[in-house]
Amino acid sequence: MAEYPARSERSSDSRGRDSRDSRSPDRKRRFQVRKKVCRFCVDKTPFIDYKDVKTLRFFITERGKILPRRISGNCARHQREITVALQRCRNIALVPFSGEK
Ligand SMILES: [Zn+2]
Repeated sequence: MAEYPARSERSSDSRGRDSRDSRSPDRKRRFQVRKKVCRFCVDKTPFIDYKDVKTLRFFITERGKILPRRISGNCARHQREITVALQRCRNIALVPFSGEK
């Protein structure tokens, strides 16, 4: 007996969510879609040099965090190498662990 009103509440709630949750296929187009290519694959770099600060700086944020793959566009293999290179680079203080300014 007590369940009945609760049920009706739920159904109306889910209805409201459904209308909100309708995803448009053009969602991605809202931001400019940049072609993501792994630059190391393109350049055919044999390995990523941990002393190459210029390159490594490209893959960290201002706060010193490593850029995620979905943003940098690296392939899995090279992203892993970047991570290792950056860790080494930080260790010898070529790149900060966190926060630049
Ligand atoms: Zn790659």
